[in-house]
Amino acid sequence: MIKTKIIATLGPCCNTADTIRSMVDCGVDVFRLNFSHGTLEKHAELLEQFNTARERHHHTTAVLGDLCGPKIRLGHIDSPGRKIEVGEEITIISGQFKPEAPLIGTTYENFARDVKDGDRILIDDGQIILRALRHEDNKVVCLVEVPGTLKIRKGINLPDSTVSAPSITDNDWQCVDWAIQNNFDFLALSFVRSGDEIRQLKSHIERVGSDIKVIAKIETAAALENLEDIAKASDIILVARGDLGVEVDIARVPLIQKHITHLCRKLGKPVIVATQMLQSMIESPTPTRAEVSDVANAIMDFADAVMLSGETAVGKYPVEAARTICRIAEVTEAYLEEGNVVYPKIDTGQELQLSAAIAHSVAQMTEDIDVRIVAVWSQSGSTARLLSKARIDVPILAFSSNERVCRQMCLHYGVIPRCREIPQDTQEFIHLTDKLILERRWHKPGDKIVLLTGEPIGAADATSAVIVHKLTADN
Ligand code: PGA
Ligand code: MN
Repeated sequence: MIKTKIIATLGPCCNTADTIRSMVDCGVDVFRLNFSHGTLEKHAELLEQFNTARERHHHTTAVLGDLCGPKIRLGHIDSPGRKIEVGEEITIISGQFKPEAPLIGTTYENFARDVKDGDRILIDDGQIILRALRHEDNKVVCLVEVPGTLKIRKGINLPDSTVSAPSITDNDWQCVDWAIQNNFDFLALSFVRSGDEIRQLKSHIERVGSDIKVIAKIETAAALENLEDIAKASDIILVARGDLGVEVDIARVPLIQKHITHLCRKLGKPVIVATQMLQSMIESPTPTRAEVSDVANAIMDFADAVMLSGETAVGKYPVEAARTICRIAEVTEAYLEEGNVVYPKIDTGQELQLSAAIAHSVAQMTEDIDVRIVAVWSQSGSTARLLSKARIDVPILAFSSNERVCRQMCLHYGVIPRCREIPQDTQEFIHLTDKLILERRWHKPGDKIVLLTGEPIGAADATSAVIVHKLTADN
């Protein structure tokens, strides 16, 4: 069992319950539906396959909806695309999907208003670069600086412009409500620029009575400026290296990744590293050495979770990609458990000080004595989250009676979530923990475990006792 949490994106190459189940068997914990591609009907079909797969396996798995946010795209371009050459002038028109040739369309209404003369227009992950030369009404005449082939609906990034589109578009709001209705566990927001956007989404979620958790995708220069505020406002952070590498200097991406993962460690927030982790496996059954290194380094950087995108959604080897990423995690974790990395202290502020202190001392205990598992009753999931951020050497078996909380623990490094009725007292908690561990044959009678509990079990902030216990059959 690996501690690193694995997210896989669902798509046309992994759209059956059987494939999804194979990926769960490899170690995938969370499945992402990307609202940037396909209709809600298509997503409903994927979700149905996911739910069928979920019925048939033991692991707790969760589902994540990824909102497109103000992603700007090209409009219609006849297949196989339109080749553009260096020095050529092309004209982009705002708010029209299929304008008359030779105009190039974009569905973004404010395109000509937001783009200023001299701004760069990056297309298809920055592979094509245009420069805005002049404006003609709602059109922008652009000079091709780096050539390529324009294709239908490819993404546009405007790193020099201030994009005025709202962060949560009408289409996003539809997806938000759909995800809530369909019992999703996480919603990710793309192109976040400020903490207020996260707060706006969270207040809507609260208003409709949902407890879905919010992930902020860090992929713009503005988000880097407001990072602390965004991290504090959201439940989870995602380092979205794809767009980040276009919006800012690509050479800064590794440093930004380290900065964000360290900040999240300090704040006790789960963090996901995403995009191109095993990119070559879209076409090939084995990854490059650089990709393997990248995954391992993300785990050493304190990522709680790593994410596969195209590798599983549109790749030729979705199950192999899942197996490969889990294998890298397994080997890297074994190295970390030898005590080869020193972790900074968690600094959560007043609110969770006690839980953070307990997590810190339990981490020390598991180093000093031979403990196999740390079991905790974590009704809201926050003690489990802080134990996870402390990167305890042994697995954290975390219980809650709230099924949703258990599923949301699927993004906490090292946590094995289990949903159970709240026990009456500590004795009953010890009994159920022993039973589970021994039944599953994870360990044998006499092996030591640490239990964290408090009275009454299940109450908020109740953790007050640390018990060292020997596994006992039939107690
Ligand atoms: P995307 O986000 O896959 O939705 O674009 C991730 C990224 O940009 O890295
Ligand atoms: Mn992105």
